[in-house]
Formats: sequence, C-alpha cells, structure tokens
Amino acid sequence: MSDVLPEDEVVRICQELIRIDTSNFGDGSGPGERAAAEYAAGLIEEVGMEAEIFESAPGRANVVTRMAGEDPSASALVVHGHLDVVPALRDQWSVDPFGAELKDGLIWGRGAVDMKDMDAMILAVLRGFARTGRKPKRDIIFAFFADEEAGGAYGARYAVDKRPELFEGATEAISEVGGFSATIGGQRTYLLQTAEKGISWLRLVAHGRAGHGSQISTDNAVTRLAGAVTRIGEYKWPIELTPTTRQFLDGVTELTGVEFDADNPDILLSQLGTVARFVGATLQNTTNPTLLKGGYKHNVIPESAEALIDCRTLPGQQEHVLEIVRDLAGTGVDVSYVHQDVSLEVPFAGNLVDSMIDALHSEDPGAKVLPYTLSGGTDNKSLSRLGITGYGFAPLMLPDELDFTGMFHGVDERVPADSLKFGARVLNTLLTNY
Ligand SMILES: [Zn+2]
Repeated sequence: MSDVLPEDEVVRICQELIRIDTSNFGDGSGPGERAAAEYAAGLIEEVGMEAEIFESAPGRANVVTRMAGEDPSASALVVHGHLDVVPALRDQWSVDPFGAELKDGLIWGRGAVDMKDMDAMILAVLRGFARTGRKPKRDIIFAFFADEEAGGAYGARYAVDKRPELFEGATEAISEVGGFSATIGGQRTYLLQTAEKGISWLRLVAHGRAGHGSQISTDNAVTRLAGAVTRIGEYKWPIELTPTTRQFLDGVTELTGVEFDADNPDILLSQLGTVARFVGATLQNTTNPTLLKGGYKHNVIPESAEALIDCRTLPGQQEHVLEIVRDLAGTGVDVSYVHQDVSLEVPFAGNLVDSMIDALHSEDPGAKVLPYTLSGGTDNKSLSRLGITGYGFAPLMLPDELDFTGMFHGVDERVPADSLKFGARVLNTLLTNY
C-alpha cells in the first residue's frame, strides 16, 4: 500500500465525491453533507488516522482530523475544503452532473472545480502521509466543511464558533479559490488568492402613506423605493486599487506591456482572457439590486416596499459603502443588514507564500505567480474569526482552452484529470516542505 502516491488516487477520490450529491439549496432542503463526510472520514480511517464527524444540524456534517507534525511548537496549518456544492439542473447539462464521468481526459460533474477537486487532493495527500508514516513539519488540521455555498453557518462558521479547540495553535490556512493557472502575455501564470471582498447583503424598506390608487400621492413607498434602487444600482463606484490588486495589475503589465488605465480598465482586463471575469469586480465596490417586493393590489398604494441589494466591498470599506448606500437611498428608506461577512487581505509575502510558490515551481519551473483578490467569499472568512490567515491555494495547471472561471457554479463543470494529479503533487510538496 505504501507505494500508492497521492496522484494515483486523486482522480478516483474526486469522482467518488462528485457521485455523492451534496447540493446546497440554501434553505436546508438538500441532501446534506453527511454521506460525503462519512466517505471522507472512511478514507482517513482506512489509513489508520482518526477523523471526527460533527453535525451542526441533522445531516449537516463536518469532518476534522489533525496530523501531528515533527515540531509541536510550530504553528499549525489548516488545510480545508467544503463538501457541499451548488445545485445542478440535469437537463441543462450534457452529462449527468453527479455521474463524474471521465471523458476526453476530464472529470465532468458538479463540484469538479468547486471544490471536490481540492477535497480529493487533500484526502489523497493526507493518505500519502499516513501510509508512509511521514510527518509534516508542523501540525496540519485537515477540515471538510458543510454549507460553504450558503455562507457557512452550518459549516465553517459553526465549527469556528462551537468547536474552536479543533483549530488550536493554527495561524494559517489554505483552501479554494487560487493556485490555478492562466496564460497572460504568453506566460503561464498562477493566481494565488491573498484577499477576498467583503459581503454586505442589505435590505431597503421604503415607507410612505397607504391609500387608494386613484388619488394623488406625493408619499408613495413604491416610487420612493424605485428611486433608491435606481440610484444605488446606477451608482458609479470609483476604481480603487488595493495593495493586492495593484501588485496583480503591475504583474500583468510586466507580462503584457499593457499599462493599467483606471479610466478604461477593459484594455488591461482584455489581456486576461476569461480570468477577467474574476478580476474585473475586484477593482471597485459593487452594489447590485437583486430583488423587489411591494404592494398587493393594483389599486392600493402600499405603506411600504422592499428591495435587496447585494454589496461586495473592497477590503476595509464595509462601513464606507454602507454610508454611501444610506445616502443614495435617501430619506424614508431604511437600510439594514440581512447578512454580512468580512473582507480579507494579507501581504503576498512570508514563509507560507514562499513555500506555495516553491511548490508550484517544483512542478512548473519558471512559472509566474501573482496575488489576486477574490470577488466572492470562502470559509477563510470564518477561520479569520480565530485569527487564522487564509489563502486560496488549490493548485491546478490548466489548459488554455478550458474556461476555468466559467466552471464555477456553471453548466458542464469539469476539470482535467492531469490538472488534479498536478495539484496533488504540488500540495504534497507544500505540506512536506512547509
Ligand atoms: Zn467553493
């Protein structure tokens, strides 16, 4: 058994994970993560380690195991993935989204890139350590969380709040979404995620005077709400470069010779191919109206009307954005939080960053590595509550023709088997050397 390398079983593990449907509809109606958690725990126990499964609610299962390192005084590293996936509509797909078919060298299925690929790499690498009796340099806490796709209340957030002792001694973490390659200016470049935008989901409630629809109304909640939503939705947020984004754009300029023009960001973004989708929204705050609700009959002016706004804030700007949204909403419109989560940003420097770059170079010498900001969020937000610094590092060397950023939550999600094997080797090198 000891000669089974992580890359030998990472594809099979990824396929088996995809075949366990863990669709997260966000309302608790899905199958939950219990079966996937038992599968992961089984793989861990098979190689002689213990794994703890704990549920935040019936069926909402998380798995954590700790591997002791050579130096118990060194800070621990959390290596984590989420077990849930976003739902998939079968009739839109060209294959069974839970079939995990291996076709043309790719694994097809929901979770192939988000993120049963990385879950499989983590499990394969962990099993490699356990089988050979090798010890990492520091304690490694391997965690597989539920509910990331709905904000993590039943997963990472629950684990951090209710079971903080599991993460004792940990100062850093790695997980999705980074470490993947893109070709920029003809040069293969890996994007390492060192920052995440914050999330502010806001509710607007406009008030007015209820009345008959045939009368003159100067105090109409629907009119007031419509104005607020228009002002917020059309607001032109300025381009603002954080240290991470600046470093990323400077790197792109170096590779392409194209300078960044804040008045016309598309010129440089067009150099990025499909990665522009990930980067474009990290140059500014965004405030998108996403839902309207108000009224109940054609000839009745309602007393109130409601809208939801999805705001994604640059690191450190959550309060600032709220203030501006309040101003734009105007009088007679209450603005409140439905959900909020922090932004993150850490320097693209330090031993862990160096080790991630070295691990990539061990498989792809000479490749460029740049930091970038994620426009969405990950479970690293929850771990940050324990003072743990998180990075996005799920290493994948990708062929240019794959629209990787379009795979996330997309139809016909798929990942090349060779990319997975590459990722398993890089992760193994990282956890061996760091
Ligand atoms: Zn994910």
